[in-house]
Parts: sequence; C-alpha cells; structure tokens
Amino acid sequence: MPDDCLFCKIASGAIPSKKAHEDDLVLAFYDIAPAAPVHILVIPKQHIPSAAALGEQHAALLGHLFAVIAKLAAELKLDDGFRVVSNVGELAGQSVPHLHFHLLSGRALAWPPG
Ligand code: AMP
Repeated sequence: MPDDCLFCKIASGAIPSKKAHEDDLVLAFYDIAPAAPVHILVIPKQHIPSAAALGEQHAALLGHLFAVIAKLAAELKLDDGFRVVSNVGELAGQSVPHLHFHLLSGRALAWPPG
C-alpha cells in the first residue's frame, strides 16, 4: 500500500468515511462531493491503481465487488436505474489513483457522459 494513497487510508480506517458496505475485500462509502442523489464509491481494499492494472488474477475480486454493487442497488431500491463508472487516467478525470467504481443514481444520467 502506498503511504500517500487516500483510498488505502479510507480502506484501513485511518481516514473516516460514511460506509455503505464493508467486508474483508471491499469497502463502499459515500462520495464526499456527490454528483447525484446516490453517489457511492466501491473500492477493493487491495491497492490497484486503476482498471488499467486489472488482469485475470483479479477475476474473483471483481466478481465479488460487482456483487456488492448489485446488493447495494437492491438495498437502496435503485429500481429505476443506476450507473457504474470507473475513470481511468487523466483524460477520463481520474483524481484518485486507487481503483474505484462510482455507483450513481437518483436522477436521470445523460449519455454520452461529458
Ligand atoms: P475520480 O475523480 O473518478 O478519481 O473519483 C474520485 C472521487 O473521490 C471523487 O468523486 C471525489 O469526490 C471522491 N473523494 C475524494 N476524497 C474523498 C473522501 N475523503 N471521501 C469520500 N470521497 C472522496
């Protein structure tokens, strides 16, 4: 874990967050600057810089992470729809270099995104 990684610190509890789900592998917490009425970040506790660093060895972790997303969507009754997005790199606007999936809902979400 890089000493300066914000989401590693949130995953370890060194920096507090408003948690939506936590288990041994995955943490979901509310975004500090929500872009929609529902805006949750779902992260692996393991440090992975972005989706660009994923490989076959992460298959089980990602399957579990998406099961957590589906569980949250069901619990929060996001029946009208939601979006899952992961920004990779500067052009996409990634600001925290620790893999995270935004779970967005509660309003109409334009497509294509800006
Ligand atoms: P991205 O720009 O795709 O890398 O997403 C990073 C997200 O992390 C942004 O939506 C930020 O609002 C969010 N964020 C930054 N710091 C915190 C924090 N301490 N707690 C919760 N969310 C944060």
